[in-house]
Amino acid sequence: MNDHTPAPPTATRRTAVRGALALGLAPLLLPGRAEAAPRALVRARRKHFGAANVDRRTGAIRRDRVLLSWVGCAGFALAIDGEVLLLDAWIPRGIHGGRVPTSVAELAALRPRAILIGHGHFDHAADAHRIAELSGAVVVGTAQHITQVRAKASKRIRGLVVGDERDPHGTVRRARLGSIRLTAVRHPHSTPKPPDLSDPHLPLLPLPDPLTPLLHPPSLADCAGLLTGLAGDAEGGSLLYQLRVPGFTLVWHDTVGPLKEDAPRVRRVLRRLPRPDVHVGAIQGFGQITNGLRDVRHYVADVGGTVFVPSHHDDWGAPLIASPASGYRGPLEAELRRIPAARRPHLRFLSDPHDYLRADRLTFSRRRTRRAARRRRGRQR
Ligand SMILES: [Zn+2]
Repeated sequence: MNDHTPAPPTATRRTAVRGALALGLAPLLLPGRAEAAPRALVRARRKHFGAANVDRRTGAIRRDRVLLSWVGCAGFALAIDGEVLLLDAWIPRGIHGGRVPTSVAELAALRPRAILIGHGHFDHAADAHRIAELSGAVVVGTAQHITQVRAKASKRIRGLVVGDERDPHGTVRRARLGSIRLTAVRHPHSTPKPPDLSDPHLPLLPLPDPLTPLLHPPSLADCAGLLTGLAGDAEGGSLLYQLRVPGFTLVWHDTVGPLKEDAPRVRRVLRRLPRPDVHVGAIQGFGQITNGLRDVRHYVADVGGTVFVPSHHDDWGAPLIASPASGYRGPLEAELRRIPAARRPHLRFLSDPHDYLRADRLTFSRRRTRRAARRRRGRQR
């Protein structure tokens, strides 16, 4: 499905755009939507992306910046080139509840164009059907992710297939979401492997914080959701996504598999992709039980981003295996130091719960592109 391209600008709009450029208002323009937006949309966008980045009347978001708002686990609301996308769709809850200050209704009110599913487990996709129902967002993922989301929905949900669980690791599929170019790479879910004797690590088993459920007591529904999710939701294959707009490239993935043993081809594919400005990646995984953050190091070095943002390392609501991000900081910094300097990113660490919904922690400028420079030169002539 490729029916998401915005209509070409009309002559009147072009004049308005030129006027706005002269006034320095270009970042606030959203194509074809100058009328006042529903209050819920404006409120939700200002809450998730920062009041300074969102027009108070139209809800349009600055296009010169890329904004990420962490909603817990490996999930983010992303504003890129005036579009809103959700990366995964789940608000952490289980043995605690209400710890991430957002809701399914608020994420739907952002009016995301699409929901990208990294894999189908409940802690990544359990809220996708509700958000898609309320917002009309397209669900993007493997055929199996989309089938699973649709099976829970009470009305028709649009889907964009960019993979299949039967695809071999390293399979690349491309698509477009409006102005955003999407590349999906099939890669493995995390799993423990025997200790790697050529690259030895201590097991990484951070301690859970027993206070979290007391500070944020769960509802009955939160506990029940954990049990049904654990029992019912299949992986459906895992996908790593690269998103590109002029002047910015982002890579995001919500699990970290044993590339060395199970998917060496993925390492070659990642090294061939253009190096992104920002790499957002899960760092918690079953591999850490035997091989520490070795698998994380492989992803980070192969992707070779300028900035690395860790995720899935927070207290996301499962007993025993979820713990505060603070327990990962030292081991992650040590592991990143082992990457050769030429491919080592700057670390933008996220801590829970402080960094939930803190788009100011994850605000990035788009580079001036050759195309923009050409347009500027054209205007001056
Ligand atoms: Zn999973």
